[in-house]
Parts: sequence; C-alpha cells; structure tokens
Amino acid sequence: MAGPSRPPCLGGRLTGILELPSRIESLADAARARVDRLLDVRPISGQTDPPASLEPWLTDTFGSADAVRGQSMLRVTNLATLEATVFAPLRSHRPIDGPDHARDLAAEIAATEGDPFCDPVHGTPADTFGRVRGARMVSGANAALADAHHAVLVFDEHDPLAFDAALIADLFATGRAWADRARSEDPEASNYLLVWNCLWRAGGSIVHGHAQALLGRGAHHARVERVRRDAELYRASHEADLASDLVDVHRDLGLTVDHDGISVLSHLVPVKERELLVIAPPGTDERDPTFGAAVARALLAYRDRLGVRSFNLALWRPPLATDDATVPGWDAFPTMVRIVDRGDPFTRPSDIGAMELYGTPIVGSDPYDVVAGLRDA
Ligand SMILES: [Zn+2]
Repeated sequence: MAGPSRPPCLGGRLTGILELPSRIESLADAARARVDRLLDVRPISGQTDPPASLEPWLTDTFGSADAVRGQSMLRVTNLATLEATVFAPLRSHRPIDGPDHARDLAAEIAATEGDPFCDPVHGTPADTFGRVRGARMVSGANAALADAHHAVLVFDEHDPLAFDAALIADLFATGRAWADRARSEDPEASNYLLVWNCLWRAGGSIVHGHAQALLGRGAHHARVERVRRDAELYRASHEADLASDLVDVHRDLGLTVDHDGISVLSHLVPVKERELLVIAPPGTDERDPTFGAAVARALLAYRDRLGVRSFNLALWRPPLATDDATVPGWDAFPTMVRIVDRGDPFTRPSDIGAMELYGTPIVGSDPYDVVAGLRDA
C-alpha cells in the first residue's frame, strides 16, 4: 500500500488518514462546510527521548528510532454524536506477548465440532411459539435471555467463517421472521436488534456460526436511541440530515463504496479497528436484496481481502412499529449495519481497554487502507 510519498518510518501505515486535514482543505466550499459542521479533526504531535540502548529494539519493532522520537496522530470527533477516535500509527506495531499467531484457526474451529449448536433442536431451548426455520439456519431461544424475546439464529454450518451472500440474506430474512412471530404474541414489543459476534474475540461464547436477535418493549436500545436524538438535534441546529451528511462527508473524502443507492463507509470515527457502516435510505427494509448484497460484499471483503476473522455486526433500524407520534425522527432514521474488526483470534490482550471504555478509542488501522480493500472486492 505504501506509495513513494509515504514516510518509510511508518511502513506505509496511516499516512492516508494523517493526510485528512489537507484533503479537507482542498474540498469545495459546500463540502468543506459539511465537514466542518459534522467533524472536528485535530492533528496531534508528540515527542519521546529514547536511550541509545533501546534503539535496536525500536528499529526492529517500529521501523526506526526516529519513528518513536517524533510521532503524528490525529483525533477525529463526530460533533453530533460525540463519537471520537485517536488514529495512532505506531499502535499497530506494538509488541504482543502471547502465543504463536500461526496456530491454525481452521483446526481450532474444527476441534469444537459437536458443540450444542451442531444439534440446535436438542442443544437450545425453543421459543414458546416454536422455532423459525430459514434456508440456512434455525432459531432457538437464548438460554440466558437479555430481553423479553432473545433468539439465537444458529447457522447450519459449524464454521462461523463459512458465510456467503446467500447466508447474509437468509440471516436478515430469518431474523425478521422470528421477530414477526414474537410480535404476534407480544405486539407491544417492537424494538428489534440483530447482532452477530463472530468468534471469541468478539464475545462469542460458542464457536459455531450464529447470530442473535432481540425484541423488547419500551425505548429502543440505548445506542440506537442516542443516534435518533442526536440526529434530531443536528436537524434543529443545522437544518441538515445527519445520516446524509455522514454519507456525503465520507464520499467527499474518498471513503465510500456505493452499491445501488446503498453506501459502505470506511468510518472516519471507528469504534475500533476497520469499522464499516453500511447505510441505506430511511424506510429500506433490511430484507431488500440490494441491502443484503451490500452487507455481504462488505463482509466478504472483510474476510477475504482484509483478513478479518473476528468481528461484531449490528443491524440498526427503527422500531418495527413507529406510529408513536411522540417520538420524532424514526422516519428519517436510516437502515444501517455497523461492523467492526476485533483482531487476531490468537492475540492475548483484549483490543478494548480503559481508553475504549472511558476515554477515546485508539485505532491503528487506516480507513484509507480499509476502503482500498473494499474497492478491490
Ligand atoms: Zn457446531
């Protein structure tokens, strides 16, 4: 990925995102104004003073001692949502004290065959209304509920990385069919969330491929509700639509891939490494084939081009019943999927530390490298 203009001390990493301020400077006035109302972009520089005895190790680890002496970072803040990220180029070079990364993930996955999800009818409880069967998966009730209705959607394939576009389409269809069945027994439950934790780094307790669907009453899940509120405040402050600005800013800065009116964004404010947002216009049904195809292309690029093995995915959409006039903004809320890389399954340290929980997430991957991987797919 390294071009001739990239400083060799960074090994080709992150210079793309560090060039963001100059990309913004070169935008036309309207696009520049849109960036300015949505984002705060702040270059950060720092210096260190390493002893000579440390230089060989610094050279081995980070490419040179000078790369550690003078460092450039960038903090990007979404002013509407207050999501923020520090892009720190040297973080991805940090030495990891752990087991051999060359261990065979496929063998590790195969070794767990015979788990409860290999026989979901006997290995999981059913919902009181029974099970929903899709083309490539079957529902069970989560044995430890996290909402009034909480399903596991157990894939026929044991290997969680053996997904394809048809499985992604089936996931959206089966999840929604399950939610509709649950709503027929509990019509007041309309807050629907579909999530997928792939492998243990992402919080998956069972290796076998599966996602989860939740349906409950009351306000929507807090992270979704937060964005609805932020978008309403943004509309009041700027007379602009938050989701449209988010897409347009990423497009103007070269960070989107578009498929049939659906945009895949290499997020400028990633919650952690390589976050993608798949954004469709408000009112888009997640079962729309073009939406499923866009999510599938993103996930296949993740697995096959970017080498991601463990990820979290969430479908964010308005409640299934949005006729409550006291809650404005759902009609303008996009249908979207968020996907984030959780790192090497054999790396011992968690990718989530105190900074991610209580400060500002630190990210070592470059959104421009991520979007290049999407474009090649
Ligand atoms: Zn299994």
